[in-house]
Amino acid sequence: MKFGGTSVASIDRIKNVANIIENKKKEGCKLAIIVSAMAGVTNDLVEKSKSISNHFSNEEYDVLLSSGEQVTSALLAGCLVDKGIQARSMLGWQIPIVTEGQHKNSRIISVNSKSVQNYLEKDYVVVIPGFQGISEEMRISTIGRGGSDASAVALAKALDADRCEIYTDVEGVFTTNPDICEQAKKIDKISYDEMLEMASLGAKVMQSSSVQKAMINDVEIYVKSTFAPEKSGTQILSEDKISYDKVITGVAYSRDDAKVTLMGVKDKPGVASAIFKPLNDDNIVVDMIVQNISADSNKTDVTFTVKRDDMLKAENILKNLKSEIGYEKLLTDNKVSKVSIVGAGMITYPGVAFKMFNALATKKINILVISTSEIRISVLVDDKNTELAVKTLHSAFELE
Ligand code: ASP
Ligand code: MG
Repeated sequence: MKFGGTSVASIDRIKNVANIIENKKKEGCKLAIIVSAMAGVTNDLVEKSKSISNHFSNEEYDVLLSSGEQVTSALLAGCLVDKGIQARSMLGWQIPIVTEGQHKNSRIISVNSKSVQNYLEKDYVVVIPGFQGISEEMRISTIGRGGSDASAVALAKALDADRCEIYTDVEGVFTTNPDICEQAKKIDKISYDEMLEMASLGAKVMQSSSVQKAMINDVEIYVKSTFAPEKSGTQILSEDKISYDKVITGVAYSRDDAKVTLMGVKDKPGVASAIFKPLNDDNIVVDMIVQNISADSNKTDVTFTVKRDDMLKAENILKNLKSEIGYEKLLTDNKVSKVSIVGAGMITYPGVAFKMFNALATKKINILVISTSEIRISVLVDDKNTELAVKTLHSAFELE
C-alpha cells in the first residue's frame, strides 16, 4: 500500500492512514507500506536548498529531500505501534534499495526483499519511505519527483506482492478531469498502455515512469482514495484482462505545448532533417508534426509542436538558421492545447477519427494539428476551446 503526500498531509491524516492499515491487517494481509512526504514538504526543502545556493550539491540535495519521507515513515510506524500493531520503519539504506545513475534522478536497480520479508514473516507492518535509495557509492539517492509511485511498484515486484494499492486523494482514474467536465466517470479498469497515454497527456494520478515499470513487470495496480478506502477505485492491468465495451476509455488534455510553423519551406530532400536536427541538438522535444506536400510550387509549410517552455529557444534556433534551412516566414503560438482521445478499443473499431473530427466540427472547433498512435488520437486546438473540446468528445463517445 502506497500513500501519497495529500494522504499523509497532517497528523490526523496519518492517523486515518493507520486506521486503513489496521483494517487491512484484520483481513489477514501481510503489509509493506510506502509513504510520500507530507504534502508540500518536498517543495519546501527544494526552496531551502535554493536559498543556500543556486548550485546546491546534488548529493546533499538527495539527503535533504529524502528526509521528508523519513519523517512520514516514522510518524506512521509510531502511530501503528501506539495502536498495538507490530510495526517498524525501514529506510532505503536499511533494506537496501540500491540505485544507479545521477543524483536527483537515480533509478532503482535492486531491492533486497529478504530484509523486509523477514519482518513480514514475523507479522510486522513494515513502513518504507518512498522516493529514496542508496547508491553503490553508499550515498543517499532520490529517484526523481513523484518517485514514491515507482518505489511502490519496485517493492511490490521484489516482494512478489498479490496487490499494489496506490492511495491518493481521488477515487481513481477518471474518463476526464472532473473539474472541467461534470460528467466525468471513474474508470473501473484501464490498461497500462492507456494509463501511460493518459498520464503523459495530463491525467496526474500516477507518475508515468512508474506505470511503465508496472507494465514491464506485470504488477497489477489498484488506485484508491484514502478518504473513501471502501470504494473499488481503478485497476491498472494488462489489456488482455479487460473486455472493451467502449471504443474510447478517456479524454485527456494538456496545456504544455506551443505551435511552430515554418512557411515557404523549400520542398526538397533533407529539409525536415535540417529543421529538426538543431532542435534535437538542443534537447528540444518535438511532438506533433505536419508537413504539406506542395501541389503546384516547390514550397511547402511545416508545423510542429514543442513544449511551451522551449518555444522561445526553438524560435531563436530557427531564426538563426533562416538562410540555411531556407524558409520565408516563422510563426509561433503558445495559446494552444492538445486534446486527446485514448482507448485500446479503437484498434479494432473503424471510424473513430471521423467521429472525433465530426464532433469537433459541429461545435465549430478548428483543428490545428493532428497526431495519432495505435490507441490515441490527439488534436491541437486553440487554448480557449479546450474545455468545450473535452466536453464535446466526452459526450460524443458516450463516456458519461
Ligand atoms: N516527495 C516526493 C515528491 O514530492 C516524492 C513523492 O511524493 O512521490 O516529489
Ligand atoms: Mg506523489
